[in-house]
Amino acid sequence: MPIKTLEIIRKRLEERPAELQTARQNGQKVVGWVGYNVPEEIIHALGFIPVRIAVGGDDRLVEVGARYASSKTCVFIREIVGAFAENQDPYIQQTDLLAFDATCLQNYRAAEVIEYFFKKDVVVLAVPRNFDWDEAKKYFAHEANEFTRLLEERAGAPLDSARLAESVALYNDIRETLKSIYTFQASRDNVISWEEVYDLIQAGELLDKKEYLSLLQQTLAELKELQPNPVIEADDGDSRLFISGSLIPRGDRKLIGIIKSVGGRIVGDDLWSGILPHLDLDIKEISPAGVALAYLNRTPHAALPYLDLESDRRLKKLHELLSTSKAQGVIYHTLRYCDPFTFKAKETKNVLAKSGIPLLEIHTEYAGSDYEAMKTRVEAFVEMIRIKAEFVEEEALLANA
Ligand code: SF4
Repeated sequence: MPIKTLEIIRKRLEERPAELQTARQNGQKVVGWVGYNVPEEIIHALGFIPVRIAVGGDDRLVEVGARYASSKTCVFIREIVGAFAENQDPYIQQTDLLAFDATCLQNYRAAEVIEYFFKKDVVVLAVPRNFDWDEAKKYFAHEANEFTRLLEERAGAPLDSARLAESVALYNDIRETLKSIYTFQASRDNVISWEEVYDLIQAGELLDKKEYLSLLQQTLAELKELQPNPVIEADDGDSRLFISGSLIPRGDRKLIGIIKSVGGRIVGDDLWSGILPHLDLDIKEISPAGVALAYLNRTPHAALPYLDLESDRRLKKLHELLSTSKAQGVIYHTLRYCDPFTFKAKETKNVLAKSGIPLLEIHTEYAGSDYEAMKTRVEAFVEMIRIKAEFVEEEALLANA
């Protein structure tokens, strides 16, 4: 049975660009943000309308972007640069200023290129490499204050603590509701799919935050009514897959479509365009530094170097999510020239192999030329997982006989 609120959300997304245009005519400013550690609550509390600029899946725009950024830049960043060059994206068109972070240096490069070629007003948040050092946290707190100062200049008013507290509370409610909804997609006889939840998460990057929370609460209420007791089980007959690796922004549904077409079921992810940014964000202090540090303390992004595999929180989180979702295999998505995630594919595969979890790396770009080759590999992986699950089930039956 379809979830009625999802239809409302789709409609609201169609209306959103025109709504942003009206808000701007009434004096509000739209901040387009790009990155992994941009503390969105600060943007929101300053009275700006935040929208995440994360587009993908259009090889033509990648080619356009390559006229301005090196052709060795990842395809995601090249597409963003291409989208700014063409200025046809309805959200990019509505941005008054941009906020980037330097978690991934390619993201930082995009900020430079967009500012230089397209004369956009860009604010950049510096991010330390040795993110877990005390000195790095001190540095990041300083950078968060500077980032806020630059935004305050554009807002024409200082950041108000009470408004920041309100924004933090609103975003916390959004994160908690999303986490509850996420449980339903992984359950047996699920009434909402991972793909629908993924779209729902990305809708929140564009819609008004208060309205978005209300729509999420409606979605959750519908889910609870349709499926009062969601149970996550490994042996429900599906090939349960987990997606990891480079982000999959709106517009890019190639891999997700292939997995579905060959009978695989996605039950979890740790993508920065998915649930991961919403997990483990614990804001202990209502201040720019307090909010920004909470962002940095989440599961670390792959672009930040960390060499000890035993204590790597990224791998620990991956294990935890695999266990919660009862996934049977990982599809590790790497985008062309996305070095942060491509470099970590082998070590991730080796670490998961120790726990008996198979990993398939799919290295791709936005062109369609590798579609059939990808499909063949994903199909074989899904089949392998199915056979393995049947074997485990037979073993269990024999042991109990
Ligand atoms: S993490 Fe990968 S996809 Fe994201 S900006 Fe960096 S290189 Fe590009």
